[in-house]
Amino acid sequence: MQKYRISINDLPPDGKEFDLDDQAIWQTPMREFEMDCRISSPLSAHISVLPAEGGCLVRGELRGQVVLPCNRCAEDAVTDIRSSFEEFEELPDEEDPDAGLNAHAGNGAPDPAAETESRIIYERNTPMLDLAAVCWEEFMLALPVNPLCKTDCKGLCAQCGANLNNDDCGCIPDEGDPRLAVLRGLTLHKT
Ligand SMILES: [Zn+2]
Ligand SMILES: [Zn+2]
Repeated sequence: MQKYRISINDLPPDGKEFDLDDQAIWQTPMREFEMDCRISSPLSAHISVLPAEGGCLVRGELRGQVVLPCNRCAEDAVTDIRSSFEEFEELPDEEDPDAGLNAHAGNGAPDPAAETESRIIYERNTPMLDLAAVCWEEFMLALPVNPLCKTDCKGLCAQCGANLNNDDCGCIPDEGDPRLAVLRGLTLHKT
């Protein structure tokens, strides 16, 4: 997102703070990557950027709430997003001006690959930090690996697919010894 690019050269020596709460920062890539995720409480980021030798120090916090599919039963898993981050953003090699040019060629449709490569992009020889990319990447890192609707979600019945949190489907759990299961499938031939 071009409008959230800030020039690193224009930062005051003691840094600058930014508050970002445009939901499109997160919603646009979610749609682009067809993520099964919706924002249930607006996401917001507070970011401070401090210029430093060879790049800048990016510190911030991300807050909000999203709904993901539960890993066990696929029902809504409401997930609070609360993360703090601190990262050093290194200036990309200036001898590689193509990196910047590619990133903003074809203004309309952003190329997700180009956006994620570096958060600092050169625009007319000016290093620009992409705050939207920071917000998006920190959001991705803040997502749980194993979202659950509740910690003791019982999941789905392996036999009939019923959601075991709602009702007992009555299937008899197949708790046999796997070695016996093999034997059950054997046809015995008398010799
Ligand atoms: Zn669940
Ligand atoms: Zn069942």
